[in-house]
Parts: sequence; C-alpha cells; structure tokens
Amino acid sequence: MGYSEARRVLVTGGAGFLGAHLCTRLLADGCDVLCVDNFYTGSKDNVAHLLGNPRFELMRHDVTFPLYVEVDQIYNLACPASPVHYQFDPVQTTKTSVHGAINMLGLAKRVKATILQASTSEVYGDPEVHPQPESYWGRVNPIGIRSCYDEGKRCAETLFFDYRRQHGLPIKVVRIFNTYGPRMHPNDGRVVSNFIMQALQGHDITIYGDGSQTRCFCYVDDLIEAMVRMMGTPDDFTGPVNIGSTSEFTVKQLAEKVIELTASPSKVVYRDLPSDDPIQRRPDTTLAQQTLKWEASTPLDTGLRRTIDYFKQRYEL
Ligand code: NAD
Ligand code: UDP
Ligand code: UDP
Repeated sequence: MGYSEARRVLVTGGAGFLGAHLCTRLLADGCDVLCVDNFYTGSKDNVAHLLGNPRFELMRHDVTFPLYVEVDQIYNLACPASPVHYQFDPVQTTKTSVHGAINMLGLAKRVKATILQASTSEVYGDPEVHPQPESYWGRVNPIGIRSCYDEGKRCAETLFFDYRRQHGLPIKVVRIFNTYGPRMHPNDGRVVSNFIMQALQGHDITIYGDGSQTRCFCYVDDLIEAMVRMMGTPDDFTGPVNIGSTSEFTVKQLAEKVIELTASPSKVVYRDLPSDDPIQRRPDTTLAQQTLKWEASTPLDTGLRRTIDYFKQRYEL
C-alpha cells in the first residue's frame, strides 16, 4: 500500500497512549519519526524505549502554537482523550482540537504533507442510530460537559474537509471507537484502565449508572494497523472511516470479565452516571472492511490479558 515509503512522519500527541504505539510501529516500518507532545496526559516514559533510536526525535511543544518543521506525513493525535482529563481544562481541550488542527493543517499545506486526524466516535454523541455508520450526523449536546471534546473534534473534522475543499490538501479522517491496551495511563479515568487498576489493587470496581450502557473495545494493535493502512490509501480517499471493534459489551459485563481474569476479590459498586454518557455505542465498520481490508481481530479476553499483564508489571501489582 506504500504506507512505509514516506520517511519523515510527525506524530502529535506521540507520547500518549495511542501515540506511543504509533511511533513504535512507524519506526519499525522504517520511518523517521518526530514525536511532538506537551506531556499534558502523555509522558516521556511512554516513549523511553524509543529514545535511543537515531530515527526518533521527541519535541516538547503545544500544538495550539504554530510549528515549523519539514515532514511528509502528519498523524494528528494531540488531545486528551479521557473524560476526566479533557473536562479538567475544557477551554484548553477545545483549543487543542481547533487551534491544533488549524496549525497542523497550515503546516501540512506549507510542506505538502498528507495529514490524518484522530477523530472519535464522540462525534456521534448519544446516538439514535445503531450501529453508527459514517453517514450518521450524530446527536451531540453543544453546551454539556463533554462538548469541549465532542464539538472540538467535530470542528476539527470541518477544518480538515475545508482545507481539502479550499486548498486541495490530502486529508484522512478516522473516527476511533473505544481503544484500550498497555501504556494507558493508570489514572486515565477510562473504564478499562479503571477496572483493571481497581481489580489488581483489590479496590471496589466503580460502575457508573446501572452498567447496562454498551461499548465496543478495540485492542490497540488492531487500531494502529488501521491507522497506518488509512495513511496508505490513495489521495482521493479521505474518510471519515470508523475504526473499532464491533463486539459489543455492557460495562457490567466488562467488570465481570476483568474480575474473572484478575481473580480479584474486588466487589462491584454503583456510582452516578455522568451526564451525556452515551447509552449504546457500536461502529458500523463496513467502510473500513471495504477500503482498508481491516477489522478488529483481537478478542476482548486476549487484549484484556495483555493489558492486565502490563499493569501488573509496570505498577508491581
Ligand atoms: P492520551 O491522552 O493518552 O494522548 C493524548 C496525547 O496528546 C498526550 O500525550 C497529551 O500529552 C498530548 N496532548 C494533549 N494536548 C496537547 C497539546 N495541546 N499539544 C501537544 N500535545 C498535546 O489519549 P489517547 O487515547 O492516546 O488518544 C490519542 C488521540 O486519539 C486523541 O486525539 C483522542 O481524541 C483520539 N481517540 C482516542 C480514543 C481511545 O479510545 N483511546 C478514542 C477516540 C479518539
Ligand atoms: N502554521 C504552522 N506551521 C506551518 C505553517 C502554518 O504552524 O508550517 C500555522 C500558522 O500559525 C497559521 C496556521 O498554521 O496560523 C494556518 O495556516 P494557513 O497557511 O492555513 O493560514 P494563515 O497563515 O493564512 O492563517
Ligand atoms: N465507566 C464506568 N466506570 C468507570 C469509568 C467509566 O462505569 O470507572 C463507564 C462510563 O460511564 C461509560 C463507559 O464506562 O459509560 C466508558 O467510559 P470511558 O470513559 O472509558 O469512555 P467513553 O465514555 O468516552 O466511551
């Protein structure tokens, strides 16, 4: 597919959970990788294993400020992804999505780079269509506590498509559904890392609401493969493309699985459901199957075992 041909690749948010996996993969594919991150939710630890590689460069930089570098491809991942973190400084979250997109698009335009946006299933909001195809416009609250993230990402998509229409930029947009795996931040606040950390420490497992809400959990290696394939598609293919697992689980089922796989004595407790928390979410991945020849293949049990092993070793639990 030619996705390894370009040598100089910029990954914004490269020291985050997904970014670190992506940098690792791109280096293995023979690319020169420039990782740009302000370490808001990411950390140098995530890319420590890459620092000795002469083809890897790490730059502390906030994408809301202009960036002048020379690259062939850009993966724009910079943005806190966990509700706890993106709601901590919501104005900065919107700025990161919107100003960050403008700067990275301006950069892509100047150096004629192909640019891929890590968008999200959150653009569908709390959906009334199930599963969600790319053609669904979504049901997002513009003034709620999740809006800084959801609307920021929606606006970024708008900018991507306007740079395409106005300046002919080669753009790619992937809408990522819940993804989990090693290198998630232990206090990230997302459900998989929360449940695993709670189970390994023998703390109560906190289910928000009654646990009947559903999500589909994609293992990180599958997701990275899809992103790299997307970058390798012809210039006339922009997406948006849904990327995610189609195996749907309730949050309660996830809690039971984690307890079983960790053989944990933890008990489940119920907490209030945060506002605007989507009740049901599953991607329609027909387009990804057709255009990327891709579907998520790692079963939840396998991915959870790998993630549990990582947390056990990393945090000596
Ligand atoms: P993460 O929080 O681990 O990574 C985000 C990275 O961006 C961090 O390293 C953070 O320090 C960096 N960052 C934040 N603001 C920045 C700024 N202004 N300038 C430079 N760097 C900045 O989250 P993740 O799960 O790795 O998500 C990566 C991307 O994928 C995000 O854009 C997120 O919205 C998107 N995404 C992730 C998921 C998922 O399930 N993991 C789902 C949908 C979309
Ligand atoms: N930009 C950047 N790096 C570049 C080129 C542009 O960060 O190599 C930023 C610059 O700050 C600008 C933004 O991207 O504000 C949008 O650039 P564009 O050329 O699209 O618009 P303009 O410069 O006219 O605002
Ligand atoms: N959730 C939960 N307990 C937790 C963390 C999250 O029950 O400790 C729920 C959350 O309310 C949501 C689902 O798990 O319904 C997925 O949450 P996450 O923050 O991982 O992702 P998102 O809501 O963005 O899909």
